[in-house]
This record gives sequence, structure tokens and C-alpha cells, in this order.
Amino acid sequence: MTQNRNAPMNPRVRVIPANMNVPRGEDGEEKKVRVAAYARVSTLEEDQQSSYRLQVSYFEEYINRKPDWELYRVYSDEGVTGTNTRYRTGFNEMIKDAKESKFDYIITKSISRFARNTLDCLTYVRMLKNLDKPVGIIFDKEGINTLDSQSETILVVIASVMEEESRTISANVSWGVTKRFSQGIPHIPTTYFLGYDEDEEGNLIIDEAQAKTVRRIFRDFLNGKGTPIIAKELTRDKEKTARGNTKWTSDAVYKIIKNEKYCGHALCQKSVTLDPLSHKRVRNKNHKPQYFIRNHHPPIVSEADWNAAQKELDRRRKMLHDPDGNYRSCYSNRAPFSNMLFCGHCGMPVNRRRMTSRKNGKPYKFTVWHCRTASQRVKCDIECNEKYMWEEVIEGAYNQMLLRMTKELDQIKIDGEKAIGEVSLTKEENERLEELEEIIDRISDQISDMSMRENVTNDSIYDAALRNLIYEVQIYQQEQEMLMRNKDESIKLTENLELLLDYLKRLDDFETFDAEMFKKIVERGILHKDYGLEFIFKCGVSRKTQGWKRGKKPIESLDITDLTKIDNNQE
Ligand SMILES: [Zn+2]
Repeated sequence: MTQNRNAPMNPRVRVIPANMNVPRGEDGEEKKVRVAAYARVSTLEEDQQSSYRLQVSYFEEYINRKPDWELYRVYSDEGVTGTNTRYRTGFNEMIKDAKESKFDYIITKSISRFARNTLDCLTYVRMLKNLDKPVGIIFDKEGINTLDSQSETILVVIASVMEEESRTISANVSWGVTKRFSQGIPHIPTTYFLGYDEDEEGNLIIDEAQAKTVRRIFRDFLNGKGTPIIAKELTRDKEKTARGNTKWTSDAVYKIIKNEKYCGHALCQKSVTLDPLSHKRVRNKNHKPQYFIRNHHPPIVSEADWNAAQKELDRRRKMLHDPDGNYRSCYSNRAPFSNMLFCGHCGMPVNRRRMTSRKNGKPYKFTVWHCRTASQRVKCDIECNEKYMWEEVIEGAYNQMLLRMTKELDQIKIDGEKAIGEVSLTKEENERLEELEEIIDRISDQISDMSMRENVTNDSIYDAALRNLIYEVQIYQQEQEMLMRNKDESIKLTENLELLLDYLKRLDDFETFDAEMFKKIVERGILHKDYGLEFIFKCGVSRKTQGWKRGKKPIESLDITDLTKIDNNQE
């Protein structure tokens, strides 16, 4: 079905069924059939102008060859983008004239030239057929006359033809993608792509100076800094963007973190043509397979770090889901609990609030953390009346918890290893992963081989085989990615467990709240009923601690200062 776009008009003239309704004048005399032609060239055409002229002269000749036909007029839309009706002035004029019975038939090259999509096509076919003086459409390529006696069947035929068209086009799309793979053409020019350069053969190579900035962005982000802060600091330090500017935006930083190319992979077909007739490209959200090529070029950040950054982005995005946008603005490193705390009752994020109170007649300010539902800033399905907690109480309770944790390092290690074990690959899974790598390599080689063979591209069997291989490799890649994700996760958890244990071992100050370390080791915290607090660490371990109402520290809770003294004495 693949057509050579440079070839002149399809020379095969299909037979139009003979029972065309020959219009008769009032005196019963045969009148010539007035035929309008519709020509359109899409932007897919390599030479639009000549394609258009070819179509027009083709119709003229076609109609002149039939003695009882006369060409009424050629309607056309030339060089339009896609087939959006907005630009189809020629088409719209033709439909208007058809309704005014100015002609009896419309001839057009193919269904895809005529309509935007299946529904559009059927709508026009029916509408024109049901006019007082019906107007038929002749689809030349498909050999269909919509006024044929079997017209109802023909509508079904149209639908199936459309399907065939769509298959052809998607085959062409996969074809193009595969071909680009085999040629190794980078999809992003490196001038807009921080960290990489191209060598003489067009391969991506690391630009060390730029790569330093990329690594810094990932490191800062994973250490808890938000993208606005990172952008501000990069601007302050006069770090250069891919285009050589020193002005950084939060969005630019975000896009770098999001880019899978930094861990050496390439994701192709990020956008797809959904309806082959409208040629409209949209972001590929599970519409079509995306081709994910592992180890396409040298990585700048490790896959484990990249995955951790995506997870972190996801987490922050969930927290930033805020209709009034207020929460977004308060995301900063200055408030260490920002985006980190949740309400244990209703699950909503817990917000920072500045409060004013009076003591001995004098006003004073203090900071608390309060559930968003309970503070009535947002509506939630669950009613929530949780109390707020003073910031310094959270900090103090957290420090107390750390102190207790320094005394149970072995248990933390056991708990952490259990969490790691849950995502770690089994022996069988590791073997399967190796096997998958081999299979994928083998099929990818086959695809590359086939893509190189230019001369057989018109062969439909070849197209189908190639499509099949792409489909197959995609299935294996999905399985591989799932296993890889678990593997990366276990690596990240192991790193985080080491970080936590190491920190607890050298911890000696239980009075100062270490905001930076908090961001590095804690994934999130939960504010429970009656000042209960729970912290989930990035290594998968979680611990509880008890907060208190300001000024009413429970007696049974550990006294930080006393314990610090004991510790110091032991040394
Ligand atoms: Zn709540």
C-alpha cells in the first residue's frame, strides 16, 4: 500500500459503475452529467505545487474522456495544513454549491483527500445523497460511487477503506521512526540541548563543561531544592544555558530534569498523528507505541538518579496540585517541611501558617503547620478537624526521634534491608533481565538491517514484517523497563539506607534542626491525631514520634538536653 509520493497521479483508472443516475431534463432528454472535482494537496506532499497541478489536469482529462460528462468546476484547497475545515475554503464552497444543485457529482482522488476523518466522510456522503437532487461522490482511488445502488454497502466499504488507509499511514510513521533510529540522527539539535555536543559523524558526545551544570541541577533537586531556587542560584553563579545565556528559569531547570536523554536513553515518537486524515499531531499519551532506545548515547547522570528525580518530580507535582496556585509560590527550601508533610486524617498536604497571639498584652508571631482541609483553605470529601502543630515542636519531636534511632541502628538496618528486598530482583528475574537484553538486541539488529534495505520499501509484506518486529521489541522493552525500574529502585534505596545510617552514626547535636539533612533523608512526614508524628525515610524505613501541644511537653517524652548530656559524658 505504500505509495511513492513523487510518482505522477496513479495511472490505474478504476471503472466507475455504469449505473450513474443520468439526469434528465424536463423534456426527458438526457442532459450531460455535471461533475465537480475536488483537489487537495497535503503538507505531506513533497512538492505541493506540482502535486496540485497534476491532480487538476488529471481530473480535466478524466472528465473530458467521458462523452456524457462535463466538468463543472475544479474546487481546490492548495497547500493547506492538514485537512482542517477552517482552511478548506474550496471544500466549503463546493458543499454549498452542491446544496444548490449546481452539479451532480463530485470526483476526488481518494477518501483521504476528501474528508478529515471517517465520521466527517460519512456525514458528507449521507448529506449529499439525501439532498432533493442527490449529489454523488466518486472516489477514484477506491472506485466508489456513493450513488451506486449498493450505496449502503458502500458506506461500510468506505469505513474499511479508511481503516486500510490508516494502517498504511501508521506503517509509514513507524517506518520513518525506525529509519531514523538506524541512521542515528539525534532528535534534538545540541545547540538547545545542554551537556552534549555532536562529533563529526553526528553522534552525541558529552560536553564536560555543560555536563557539570546538568549534574549540579540533578544533585540540587534530589537534595530537596525546588526548581525556582535552582534557577535562581544558577543565574547567580552565571552558569550558562544550552544557548549560552546566564538567565535561568524554573521551567528550563524542570525540562532538564525531565529529559530522559540525560541518562543515555532516547524516547522517540513523543507526539503522534492520531487521525491519519486530519494529520493532527498530539502528545503521545498511550496512543501509539513510543520507541524507547536504551543506551543511545553516553549518559550524564546515572539511571538511578534520573529515576529518583522523576519520582521526586511526581511527588512534588502531586503536592502542588493547588487550584489557587498559592501553594506553588511557597515551595522553597526555606521552609523545610514544605511539600513534605501530610495530614494523617484526610491525607491532604499540611500547610505552613504564620499566626499571631498575645502574651502579657504584647502580640507575638509564631509558625505552625496545619492540615489544608482543617484550616479550611480547601474543600475535601473527608471532614477534618486536626489541630495545628508548632514548627518548633515538629523540629523537636523529629530530633528526639533521631536520637532514639541512633540507639537502634541494627534494627534500622534490618528494616531497610527488608524494604530493599521487596523491590530487589530475584535470581530468576536477574536472569530474565539478561535474557531480555539479548532478545532486544537481536530484534533491534533485525530492524536496523531491514531499515537499511531501501529498495524493498514498497513491499507490503516487508512493511508488515517490520511492523511486527517493532511491536515485538516493544513488548520485550516494557518487561525490561519494569525489571529495570525495580532494580534502580533497590539501588537507590540501598544508597539512601547507607546515607541514613552514616548520618545517625555521626550525629551528636540533638538540639539544632538540620533542614538540609532532613530534605536529604526524609521522603515525607505525617501529622497524626493528638500530636503524633510519623516520618518515612527515603530508604523505605519509617519511624513514629510524639509531638506535643506548645508548652505542654509530655513528661514521658525524652528530654533532649538530658540525653545529650548523658551521651557527652560517655565519650
Ligand atoms: Zn486533614
